[in-house]
Amino acid sequence: MADRIGIGLTSQRARNRLVDQLRSMGITSEAVLDVVRTTPRHLFVDEALASRAYENTALPIGFGQTISQPYVVAAMTQVLVETGPMTRVLEIGGGCGYQSAILARVARQVYTIERIAALANRLRTRLYELKISNVRVRHGDGRLGWPAHAPFDAILVAAAAATIPTPLLEQLAVGGRAIMPVGRHGEQMLTLIRRTEDGYEEEGLQRVTFVPLLENVD
Ligand code: SAH
Repeated sequence: MADRIGIGLTSQRARNRLVDQLRSMGITSEAVLDVVRTTPRHLFVDEALASRAYENTALPIGFGQTISQPYVVAAMTQVLVETGPMTRVLEIGGGCGYQSAILARVARQVYTIERIAALANRLRTRLYELKISNVRVRHGDGRLGWPAHAPFDAILVAAAAATIPTPLLEQLAVGGRAIMPVGRHGEQMLTLIRRTEDGYEEEGLQRVTFVPLLENVD
């Protein structure tokens, strides 16, 4: 149980400090701040890095991938929560599962796709251990989406590409939103796409840095 609650640098006090920091950086959604306050990020990273889990930085999770920076996770979640329904949400690039766990608390049902089998398996185990039961995990290429469960109210892509994959646009409900880092080299633009009755509207939100959205499956 001490594990779950955390002690010292992984304690509730550390999470509260992170929440204060996110607030000062412009996160205003109390729902999102509350979820960050109660989600044990230290359980999603290797034990050796647990003491750094509540720093506002990305950290390695193995396989050349990273757990996203808490500010970016909160900002992306806030945009989705504040722009429409969150009944069915698709996440691409589940990684260690921290973002999935956050989404699980603000959405009815989450579907997440991860291309690295070992990460997909670890994600499944972590969410099971945390008793989070409204996330379905799939090992596969997220660029294809998950047609069997479409349309989605919201799609969150946690890896960057030059453009948003067409299948993801097609699997968005009318009134649905997708958020994704768009751009090729190092720095990308976090982009919000809304599907309307007539088509798609795109809005650039802020500069971000994500790992690339890759082809094929490992
Ligand atoms: N939200 C995650 C971020 C992980 S980094 C977290 O907080 O841990 C991005 C993830 O996207 C990596 O795990 C990477 O393996 C995955 N990824 C990259 N290309 C992908 C693709 N085509 N389909 C599914 N996942 C992909």
